[in-house]
Amino acid sequence: MTAGVPRPTIDTSNPHPARVYDWLLGGKDNYPVDEAVGEKLPPEAKEGARQNREFMNRAAAWLASRGMNQFLDIGTGIPTAPNLHQIVQGIVPSARVVYTDNDPIVLRHAEALLVSHPEGMTDYLQADVREPLEILDHARGLLDFERPIALSLIALMHFLPDDQDPYGIVRTLVDALPAGSHLVLSHASSDIFPELSAQVTAEYAKGGIQLGFRDRAGVSRFFEGLDIVEPGLVTAPEWFRDTARPKEEESGIYAAVARIP
Ligand code: SAH
Repeated sequence: MTAGVPRPTIDTSNPHPARVYDWLLGGKDNYPVDEAVGEKLPPEAKEGARQNREFMNRAAAWLASRGMNQFLDIGTGIPTAPNLHQIVQGIVPSARVVYTDNDPIVLRHAEALLVSHPEGMTDYLQADVREPLEILDHARGLLDFERPIALSLIALMHFLPDDQDPYGIVRTLVDALPAGSHLVLSHASSDIFPELSAQVTAEYAKGGIQLGFRDRAGVSRFFEGLDIVEPGLVTAPEWFRDTARPKEEESGIYAAVARIP
């Protein structure tokens, strides 16, 4: 960060999604208000966070192994090793990764995201996915929009209930990308373990965080018009390609990767 730029203000009186998620993953970049929400969640929430992160890892590695070298990751979260750029640059050192999150805590820790492989590039933008054109404008200065880009919205869209135009936002982002690009998306379900989902939604709501967990049809809608790749829209631990099959476990997280035609 440039000297003289004020440090982001961190609100420690209200829980924030990025910090609750960090707590669920066993991280240290969270505050007592975040832990208080996390402690009330069923134990499956921690499993879900881990399964989600492992999906991200496998999907990013698969895309990089297929030569994808441009990534736009929105809702990045607090850095957690390995971060997306470490995964993809481990396979394609020249990969370019643009990260975005709207939480100032992520900006504060962004330095860890900006340590790129010297042959590649990483960048961080503090922005809200509800302003997709701002994100696209920024990304256009850093990525080549004439060549395929992997757009990752991992455990992000369930923070946007239906009244916040989640489908329109994803459409705007996807429509900006050239053919051969990919969408990587994971999303907490409302229909796999309905009681757990309702409990999680209620606990976040007590902390002032609105969730829009969705059923299978609701998550599928994000992929309308796209070509979902094998193994399809599955739970996070069921998604794997070219790697050892992860251990079989129950999961309330949907995940898929789709090619943009
Ligand atoms: N993608 C990471 C982190 C998921 S946690 C992973 O899967 O491991 C969800 C992240 O989305 C948090 O960091 C939170 O700050 C961010 N987020 C929530 N609402 C957002 C919004 N409207 N715009 C941008 N980021 C948002």
